Amino acid sequence: MATNRTFTMLKPDAVRKGYIGAILEQINASGFRIVAMKLTQLTTDDAKAFYAVHSERPFYGELVEYMTSGPIVAAILEKENAVEDFRTLIGATNPEEAAEGTIRKKYATSISENAVHGSDSDENAAIEGAFHFSGREQF
Ligand code: GDP
Ligand code: MG
Repeated sequence: MATNRTFTMLKPDAVRKGYIGAILEQINASGFRIVAMKLTQLTTDDAKAFYAVHSERPFYGELVEYMTSGPIVAAILEKENAVEDFRTLIGATNPEEAAEGTIRKKYATSISENAVHGSDSDENAAIEGAFHFSGREQF
């Protein structure tokens, strides 16, 4: 995967609250092209594997339970400097600390139910994108 791509999930709270359209609109308006996208639901094994890096953290169980609690939108996005620019667009992990106008500031519920995921490196973007999409599903 090219290094100008990132991976995102619109998390279960955002989908439940009907924010898919608004969030995708902001993503597109911010210059990201959708390369791949689907509505799907993580199994417990999926969520444990996806967040394995956090397995020793006290919130791991809660995170896995939350991320499997309903459908998500998984997508690969393309833009120059995609990983960093998308992290800026979504804002801080804790919506109370997220900058005005960011997706988490506008749509997140809490530090746990924070509306959206964004990869934190080019390497993880490639791994996370491949977790959800085959090459044939990427445009
Ligand atoms: P991100 O890269 O900004 O998504 O944040 P992290 O990689 O640090 O954490 C992954 C996800 O775990 C976050 O997006 C939250 O959904 C959740 N999370 C992070 N920190 C906390 C916390 O202190 N408490 C709870 N309950 N969930 C957290
Ligand atoms: Mg992270």
